[in-house]
Amino acid sequence: MNNELEFIRRNIIECTKCELCNTRKNSVPGKGNFQADIVFVGEAPGRNEDQKGEPFVGIAGQRLSLALQEVGISREEVYITNVVKCRPPNNRVPTIAERNICSEYLQKEISIIKPKIICILGNTAFNSILGGSEITKYRGKIVKKDNQIYFLTVHPAATIYNQELINVLNKDISKLFELIRELKNGNEIPVDIDYPT
Ligand code: URA
Repeated sequence: MNNELEFIRRNIIECTKCELCNTRKNSVPGKGNFQADIVFVGEAPGRNEDQKGEPFVGIAGQRLSLALQEVGISREEVYITNVVKCRPPNNRVPTIAERNICSEYLQKEISIIKPKIICILGNTAFNSILGGSEITKYRGKIVKKDNQIYFLTVHPAATIYNQELINVLNKDISKLFELIRELKNGNEIPVDIDYPT
């Protein structure tokens, strides 16, 4: 484990910056390889994550693991985290205030790991990180902002309620790893949306 990341992990575990600390069982820092090429960012922990203190360990997490397995990648090779590190009661969408308060942690995780691509999972992460909405319209797209490349896809939990999205998620994750291969080979990848800086 990287020392700086361990420091942030401890800060997250002890965090009392917002009300979510009163209802959580555990905070949920990111988990995975601190030298990962890809950081996956979801919304916020659910019940299982709150119980275990680890991200994406419930049904949505199984869906993400399956999509990674399809392309021969294990969870240990990537880094998985959330916009908000504590479970909102009844799994409600985290408020803008909660997301803003917590954003410092995500920014630090990213600045330490320096991933080649940040994979945004679903609308809350899309909105919080890039100000976007309608992920189903933009999924599969490559975004560049402040010299960072982002890749957009649906939230794995959405595949539980809409089986057609399983193929969509699998297809996107497969594209994501092709993009990583291209970048590692020193090739340019085609950016769909380039945010002005
Ligand atoms: N949904 C998320 O967005 N994150 C998790 O960690 C689990 C479910």
